Amino acid sequence: MKILVINCGSSSLKFQVIDAETEELLAKGLCERIGIDGSITYENVKDGKDKVTTTPAIPNHKVGIQLVLDALTDKENGVLESLDEIGAIGHRVVHGGESFSAPAVINNEVIKAIEDCADLAPLHNPANLTGIRACQAVMPNTPMVAVFDTAFHQTMPPKAYLYAIPKEYYEKYKIRRYGFHGTSHDYVSSEAAKFLGKNREDLKIIVAHLGNGASISAVKFGKCIDTSMGLTPLEGLAMGTRSGDIDPAIVEFIANKEDITVHKVLEILQKKSGVLGLSDELSSDFRDLGKAKEEGNEDAAVALDTFAYRVAKYIGSYAAAMDGVDVICFTAGVGENDKDCRAQICSYLDYLGCDFDPIANNTRGKIAMISRDDSKVKALVVPTNEELAIARQTYELVK
Ligand code: AMP
Repeated sequence: MKILVINCGSSSLKFQVIDAETEELLAKGLCERIGIDGSITYENVKDGKDKVTTTPAIPNHKVGIQLVLDALTDKENGVLESLDEIGAIGHRVVHGGESFSAPAVINNEVIKAIEDCADLAPLHNPANLTGIRACQAVMPNTPMVAVFDTAFHQTMPPKAYLYAIPKEYYEKYKIRRYGFHGTSHDYVSSEAAKFLGKNREDLKIIVAHLGNGASISAVKFGKCIDTSMGLTPLEGLAMGTRSGDIDPAIVEFIANKEDITVHKVLEILQKKSGVLGLSDELSSDFRDLGKAKEEGNEDAAVALDTFAYRVAKYIGSYAAAMDGVDVICFTAGVGENDKDCRAQICSYLDYLGCDFDPIANNTRGKIAMISRDDSKVKALVVPTNEELAIARQTYELVK
């Protein structure tokens, strides 16, 4: 069965077609600037054809989906003879609140529940719903599945997900820690166990998903017991442009000193902080920061140090939470590609029994062990693949 995977943002729509039985990627692409002007990039991966970019008008997501379907069935460049070959559509949905601890076949009730979570993810859930509705309009008879970023973390116990604030706010407004990147944490911890020839149910695994957004999770015997992001993806690690954990009193302090609103301060914590803020606005990109550090830029060095130090502290706290750790996984843009960042983080982990191997660390693009063979705690690089994970989960529900 061929699965169309859709990841819909407010003005963009990423898509892939995956053969669920062979797990082969057949085609992928991206619609951008939806509602502004419009551009679509499409690649027929199956036949190794070049990427094609065109700039048709894309006034809304429904037009975007129709263009995606036209590209997939194009006589010259398509990978499908007809749309009937698409057995199901898997949608990435950011926030499932407490309603979803697993993927769900989309029906009116599921759509209502996603709508109900919209004030927990005001930028993402409405955009995800737009993608769902656009697909329903164009392919009304194709089954669709929602795969939630928050679902994998729903196994956290109350001591991990409750904030130490008045209980009424949890009861009235569901203010609690939810966690994000769940599809990636789930996929990476499974792939790590497979790579080691073990059952995930027998392992204590820490997954460090380090990209522009970054989060870390503790996966004990196959279940997430803690993760660093919270009610929103602002909590936890320092990120590309997000502050991660800060003293909440800082918000009012900056608002008063700068005479700006709380909303504005939060925008600064979202968009101007993290390694971008620490490096005095040099860059949020780890490649730029690494180069600047080599050239002697002190701010870049401090930004990278702070990032690695915070990851190492979270690893320590999750080892404590699980009473030990067997495997530490690095994934996403920084975790998969930045060997200096991995080396810096691992320099804090000797005490845990993680014997880092700097030569093995020189790896890229594939799953690999970066600790020595006899290391008590294994460190791995595990490329994430959220689209494949969504295709797998969609297939499981509809086959
Ligand atoms: P993601 O959000 O997972 O796509 O990760 C994006 C981030 O990965 C970028 O902002 C870069 O900071 C980082 N990144 C990507 N490639 C490299 C690389 N070769 N070396 C260091 N960092 C990288």
